[in-house]
Amino acid sequence: MSINPALIPSTPSVKLLIGGRFVESATTEWRDVINPATQEVLAQVPFATDDEIALAVQSAKEAFKTWRKTSIGTRARIFLKYQQLICENMQELAAILTAEQGKTLPDAEGDVFRGLEVVEHAASIGNLQLGELANNVATGVDTYTLMQPLGVCAGITPFNFPAMIPLWMFPMAIACGNTFVLKPSEQDPMVTMRLCELAMEAGVPAGVLNVVHGGERAVNALCDHADIKAISFVGSTKVGTHVYNRATLAGKRAQCMMGAKNHAIVLADANKEQSLNAIAGAAFGAAGQRCMALPVVVLVGEAQTWVPEIVEKARALKVGSGTEQGVDVGPLVSRAALDRVSSLIEQGIAQGARLELDGRLPQVPGYETGNFVGPTIFSGVKPGMDIYEQEIFGPVLSLVGVDTIDEAIEFINRNPNGNGTAIFTQSGAAARKFQEDIDVGQVGINVPIPVPVPVFSFTGSRASKLGDLGPYGKQVVMFYTQTKTITERWFDDSTVAQEVNTTISL
Ligand code: NAD
Repeated sequence: MSINPALIPSTPSVKLLIGGRFVESATTEWRDVINPATQEVLAQVPFATDDEIALAVQSAKEAFKTWRKTSIGTRARIFLKYQQLICENMQELAAILTAEQGKTLPDAEGDVFRGLEVVEHAASIGNLQLGELANNVATGVDTYTLMQPLGVCAGITPFNFPAMIPLWMFPMAIACGNTFVLKPSEQDPMVTMRLCELAMEAGVPAGVLNVVHGGERAVNALCDHADIKAISFVGSTKVGTHVYNRATLAGKRAQCMMGAKNHAIVLADANKEQSLNAIAGAAFGAAGQRCMALPVVVLVGEAQTWVPEIVEKARALKVGSGTEQGVDVGPLVSRAALDRVSSLIEQGIAQGARLELDGRLPQVPGYETGNFVGPTIFSGVKPGMDIYEQEIFGPVLSLVGVDTIDEAIEFINRNPNGNGTAIFTQSGAAARKFQEDIDVGQVGINVPIPVPVPVFSFTGSRASKLGDLGPYGKQVVMFYTQTKTITERWFDDSTVAQEVNTTISL
C-alpha cells in the first residue's frame, strides 16, 4: 500500500465509475500500478471504501429500473457504437495494456480484439434473447417464455487479460438488460478503465456500468451484497472457489472460470514444423500467463525424440519489453510472480526433473529491472513434482513421455483441471478418439489454444470451473437472464360462459 496520489501530483490516480461519473476515491488504501518491464509507477489504484462500493451497487440498482425496459434496438446501437470506438482506439488500448501488464503490443491488440468480438456479439442481442412459444398447449391456451434481465450483476476479473475478460462480462450482461458493477484486477486496471470510458462515450447510460477497485474486501462485499443477483468471476482456483461458495451462499448465481494446467499430446505422425511452432507459441507466448497456455506436452512414442528441436524453437524466442519490435516473451506481471516462477524452477531441479533449457535471469539490455524469465523447459516431469502439480503461470514447459495415445489420454484425465487441451496429429482416427475420450472442456485438434469465438461459449470444465454456464456466447445469455414462463388464455365475447372449473387441468 502507498500514500494517496493526490499528495503526489505527478502520479495519476485510477478513478471509480459510479452513477455515470469517474470519481476520485476517498480511501486511504492505494496500490501502485507498475510497468513490469521497467518498474515505473504508472498510476495508483484505490481500494474503494465500503460506502463507495455500496453507492456503486445502489446506482446500478436505480439505473436498472429504466435500463431493463430499454428497447432491443437502443441497446444494440450502443454496442455498435462501442465496437466502432474500440476499433478506432485499438492502438492506444494496446499501448496502455502493454505498459501495465507487459505482454507484447501485438499480443495486447489480440487481447483487445478477442474482447471486441464479444462486443460485436452483444450488438446482436436481439437474436440471442428470444423466448419460445407453444401454441394451443390446451385448446385456446398458449405458453411462452420471456428471458428477462436479473438486475444488478457483478464481475471480478484477473490480471492476465485486462481487456478481453472485462469485455466477456459487462457487454453481455448489459446487452441483456442488466446493470453492472465491475471489479477489475488491481494489478492492471488502466486499460479496463479506458474501455469503460469508451463504453460511456458509446452511450451506456449513467449507473448502468459502474466500477469499483480493490482486492479481497471489495470482492467479499460484492459476494455478500443483497442487491447483486449474479457474479461472474475469472481468476485463480483458490479465489474462484471462495467467490463461488460465498456468492452462492448469499443466494446469487455464480460462474467462476479458474486455474488450469493444460496438456497437449504430440503423436509422431504430426506435421513436425507446424506442431513445434504451435507448442512454442502456446507455452511461452504472453510469458505463459494465459489460462489456455500449454505448460505440459505429452510426447507419445517416437515423438519423444523431438525434445532437442522443441528446445531449439524455445531458445530462438526473443525475451524483452513488450514495446520492442520482434519480442516474443515479455515480462511477468510482478516481482511476486517472478519470485514464484523462479522458486518453482528451483523446485523442479531439486525434485529431479531434467532442466533442458534454463530461462532464469535473461539479459535484456535497457530493461535490467524487468520481471523477465526466458523460456524454460523440463523433461522427465512426473506427477507429484511441484512443477507438475502447480499452475506455474510463467514461461515454463514440462515434457512428459509415454508409449501410447491411450496412456496419454489417461494421464491428462488424471489431472484435476479441465480448461483446455490439444492434440497434434495427422490421423483423423487418433484425433477423433482424443475428442471422444478426453475429459477436458475445450479441445484443439492441431490448434494449440482452442478458445471458442463468441458464437460459442468458453467451456472450461472440472476443477477449472464452478457453475454450469460459461462466460460470453449463448450460455451467458442464460446466465444473465431469468426465464419467465407465461401461460395465457383469452376470452372473446362469443365465448360461452362456463361453470367454475375446479379441476387442475387446463
Ligand atoms: P486471482 O485469483 O489472484 O485474482 C482474480 C481477482 O480476484 C482479482 O480481481 C483480485 O483482486 C481478486 N482477489 C485476489 N485475491 C483475493 C482474495 N483473497 N479474496 C477475494 N478476491 C481476491 O487471479 P490472477 O492472478 O489475477 O489471474 C491469474 C489466474 O486466473 C490464473 O489462475 C489463471 O489460470 C486464471 N484465469 C482463468 C481463466 C479461465 O477462463 N479459466 C482466464 C484467465 C485467467
